[in-house]
Amino acid sequence: MNTMKKRLWRDFLILVVLFLGAWIFFIYNPVVDSEVVKETYINKEKELKDKLVDLLDYKIADGDTTQLLRSLGELKHLVSDKDIVYDLYYSDSREINAYALPSNMIVINRGIILECDTPEELIGVIAHELGHLKMKHHTDKLITALSIELLLPGSGSTAGEVTKILTQNAFSRDMETEADDYAIKKMKELGISPNYLAKLFKKMYKKSDLIPEFLNTHPGMNKRISKFSKYPFEESKLEFTFDWLKVKNSL
Ligand SMILES: [Zn+2]
Repeated sequence: MNTMKKRLWRDFLILVVLFLGAWIFFIYNPVVDSEVVKETYINKEKELKDKLVDLLDYKIADGDTTQLLRSLGELKHLVSDKDIVYDLYYSDSREINAYALPSNMIVINRGIILECDTPEELIGVIAHELGHLKMKHHTDKLITALSIELLLPGSGSTAGEVTKILTQNAFSRDMETEADDYAIKKMKELGISPNYLAKLFKKMYKKSDLIPEFLNTHPGMNKRISKFSKYPFEESKLEFTFDWLKVKNSL
């Protein structure tokens, strides 16, 4: 046999061995069982969520503990979607930011609460983040990065390292547009003018040293502000059981 033929035979044999190997592997390892895969994935997500809450010291809204968490719980109750069960968390970070995370989590920082002159502005923020959850914008990239950082044995990541991952994994411009559109729809449903969010955006835009997640997509910011400004401002008729100023002063 000449070398050419020998090489062909060798390649053919390698293919046969690989095929048989894969076949035997799948017979003895039922990884293709979608239920098992799904369950493993859900367990990992839960584990990830617990670690994040623990490491970054998130406090869940709805709790009976403080005025702040009760009022956030009330806002969460208003911003609901029949397709999504989510948890709203408070983070004691001064960064003017809010973000959505895998496992249907929305995190609101102290910094952004202090920027909101009215609860309606914060409702707009929550609605925008809920839009990201609804449209499943969470990239596998973020989940993988967090899993490596938090779930690998011996990984002793600091809160700072994890926060860096969270803020670096920004959504695309298209995703932001979708979340904005969802926020507009939600605010209208609740009888709140989307202009409330334009007010908040303008205040934050002036403080661009602390760039929030939903303002972070560089050019086009003015476009986003004008999109929300298009809606005439009308005082919302929503009533709350808390005094927003008191809530803010408690921070
Ligand atoms: Zn966003």
